[in-house]
Amino acid sequence: MRLVLLGPPGAGKGTQAKRIVESFSIPQLSTGDMLREAVAEGTASGLLVKHMMDHGELVPDDVVISVIANRIDHPDAANGFILDGFPRTVAQAEALDQELAARGIRLDAVLELEVDEDVLLDRIKGRATVAASRGEPVRRDDNPEVFKTRLEVYREQTAPVTEYYRARGLLDIVDGLQPIDAVTEQLAAVLAALPSHWIRSDVR
Ligand code: ADP
Repeated sequence: MRLVLLGPPGAGKGTQAKRIVESFSIPQLSTGDMLREAVAEGTASGLLVKHMMDHGELVPDDVVISVIANRIDHPDAANGFILDGFPRTVAQAEALDQELAARGIRLDAVLELEVDEDVLLDRIKGRATVAASRGEPVRRDDNPEVFKTRLEVYREQTAPVTEYYRARGLLDIVDGLQPIDAVTEQLAAVLAALPSHWIRSDVR
């Protein structure tokens, strides 16, 4: 099962992706996590993107496209994956289609978590407070100023990706304001209704 999870920053993509991973035994491919790892390792590409990430801007399309193209060839992604944080621009969505077509595969569904912006700002403040209170590192881009930039970037560059997938009949929208378990249930219901016959690992 090959999925894309869309939604604004703070919508709960990471939380839901982890749950889908458990149910379907497919890896979560988060470009945000991969880029943060590259930054932590101090690789050349990591240094290049650190500044952009810290300011809430998108890193160049060619950087993330090559990261994802390499990652989907790993053996653990052979039976599918859930993309979290990618694609974030229409150019990335087009590149993804090309990469998948070159491998003779395609997406099964695109799931979007819909959440309004006021709630997002509160959530992100909460995320920073919780991390700080646990003594965990707070993401540099989880502060209200940078978060506003991330929302603007989302509106301008990522929101059109929704239309890209809607036009291809792949899009399902789920209300991300519901409690976490209710969102998971609704996502699971959408996945269960897909024409393909994917077997959930937890009921196998
Ligand atoms: P969020 O919590 O906003 O979903 P992520 O962890 O997915 O954030 O991403 C953090 C940052 O990493 C983004 O603000 C951006 O700078 C960079 N990034 C992640 N994915 C992409 C992408 N597909 N294209 C460009 N930049 C990306």
